Amino acid sequence: MILGIECTAHTFGVGIVNKGKILANVRDMYVTEFGGIVPTESAKHHKNVAEKLYQEAIKTASIKEKEILAIALSNAPGLAPCLFAGLDFAKEKAKKLKVKIIPVNHCIAHLEIGRSVGSSDPVLLYASGANTQIIAYAAGKYRVFGETLDIGVGNFIDKFARHLGLGFPGGPQIEQLARNGKYIELPYTIKGMDVSFSGLQTKLQQLHKQGKNVEDLAFSLQETAFSMLVEAAERAMAHTGKNELVLGGGVACNSRLQEMCRIMCNERNAKFFCPEKPLLVDNAAMTAFTGEIMHNAGISFPPEKIEIKPRERTDDVKVIWR
Ligand code: AMP
Ligand code: MG
Repeated sequence: MILGIECTAHTFGVGIVNKGKILANVRDMYVTEFGGIVPTESAKHHKNVAEKLYQEAIKTASIKEKEILAIALSNAPGLAPCLFAGLDFAKEKAKKLKVKIIPVNHCIAHLEIGRSVGSSDPVLLYASGANTQIIAYAAGKYRVFGETLDIGVGNFIDKFARHLGLGFPGGPQIEQLARNGKYIELPYTIKGMDVSFSGLQTKLQQLHKQGKNVEDLAFSLQETAFSMLVEAAERAMAHTGKNELVLGGGVACNSRLQEMCRIMCNERNAKFFCPEKPLLVDNAAMTAFTGEIMHNAGISFPPEKIEIKPRERTDDVKVIWR
């Protein structure tokens, strides 16, 4: 059994995996009444819920603590106070159980969990609040083929939702509004495999001030921003010759984005993998799942050797497990 801990931003989670099978995946999200994440507050949240979720995961998986072989920790990248909260908890448990810790890069975990639904060598379209990246394996590492040049796609959507006076998270509400919208042409910015949302942001706000229909704006936002992402992902697939696409991140819960990915994959005879929602959003099953693969490749360290890496890049990690 590998026990995984997710802690990089707003979500604290505990997952348990055995031979690729997910036995538990419990989580709790730090939410705010108003505004975004305050890192130190989110870290406090993590400390408060950690023990409860740990016990809940063990109960859900119906295992004994002594069956835990190692602890996988999402030690990078993320908000330092949140990562510290996770590290402290992982160290405490690892010392008590006398097991080692496997340091797992959060973005890589989003990619590896694609294996649980059948992918083997995919391009990952990672579309979350803060992160927007197109990642695939090449020459010993997971490389970032494309990414946002300004803000993450989820933060972009949330910002426009906030502008409309809607609460957080804005994504699901924009998706609802978009159902009855019509298309308005908007700035479409893609440079190679990189995307940018600031021009789109400004234009949307201007059109809203001019009194344009909110449903049309929501619809056109989705059509434009998601087309950019799908185009970049398709370029990465063409460039690398890979014929699998995996989705990850909170924005990947959007059914229009999923539909666009499915159409693109069908058109180029590629396979499309979209994990279930509990595995798309930040979760610890993906940490445990990736941790198990890494552990099988001999990667694990004594607790005192583990540190957090808030700014670790996806391609900083040497991938010796594939
Ligand atoms: P994450 O950062 O991966 O936890 O994802 C959170 C982000 O996903 C937020 O920016 C949400 O607004 C966004 N999100 C969640 N559900 C949807 C949806 N159905 N459509 C678009 N964005 C969404
Ligand atoms: Mg994430």
